[in-house]
Amino acid sequence: MLAAPLFTDTRLEEIHRRLLAHYDRPPVREVWDPLKQFIYSMLSSRTKTEISLEVIRRLEERFGSWENLRDASIPEIEDAIRAVTFPEPKAINLKTALEEITRRCGSLSLEFLKGYRTDKIRLWLERFDGVGVKTSAAVVNFSTLRRRAMCVDSHHLRVTQRLGFVGRSADARETESRLMAMAPVKWPPEMLDEHHSLIKIHGQQLCTKNHPRCVACPLLDLCPAGAGAWEKGVMGAGQAKSTKQGH
Ligand code: SF4
Repeated sequence: MLAAPLFTDTRLEEIHRRLLAHYDRPPVREVWDPLKQFIYSMLSSRTKTEISLEVIRRLEERFGSWENLRDASIPEIEDAIRAVTFPEPKAINLKTALEEITRRCGSLSLEFLKGYRTDKIRLWLERFDGVGVKTSAAVVNFSTLRRRAMCVDSHHLRVTQRLGFVGRSADARETESRLMAMAPVKWPPEMLDEHHSLIKIHGQQLCTKNHPRCVACPLLDLCPAGAGAWEKGVMGAGQAKSTKQGH
């Protein structure tokens, strides 16, 4: 029989509670089917949320169906996604993935993944070029699959490192493993999604890349990086800016 843990790590719950009190509840996500979420997440890396949302909207408008997008030429797809970063490799990876899904599954749909275990879904998704741990986490957690996973984007990675939960060299996979080990087992997928959104908002508004405003941060007493900045007298103070819910 496994021994019970000596103590329960409640830091993630506490952080969640404080960020909710500070920022209020994030906008409710419009939950998409797994294929749309997959396409969005492939396109959205290193791209602002507003731009990614506009690109997926225009893709739907321009092609009318994901089958038409799949069958379009690479230059045409590249032209349609020109607003995202790295449109050339993303166009190639996206078309290849959509063709491969069709070939393997007989149709262009990811609904069959509902019958798979979460770890198997993620392995299945990560075989495609351009699909890493962040995209597979987004598909399983944000879409109608609604499984337990923590999507770690660049904001989440930075905040988690500053809070000292992982080292400075940790990647998204290691960070997600650490956070999932800390997340209460009672948190359903929707709660993990909300936690991701809160940390992302925090990374956009206060714990920014170049000028974290630790003096205004509700997590300051929990944060080694903030305490270090306090000692050096380099804590920033400034105005928060608005943000938008992404996928
Ligand atoms: S105290 Fe500073 S470094 Fe730490 S989470 Fe807050 S803003 Fe980020």
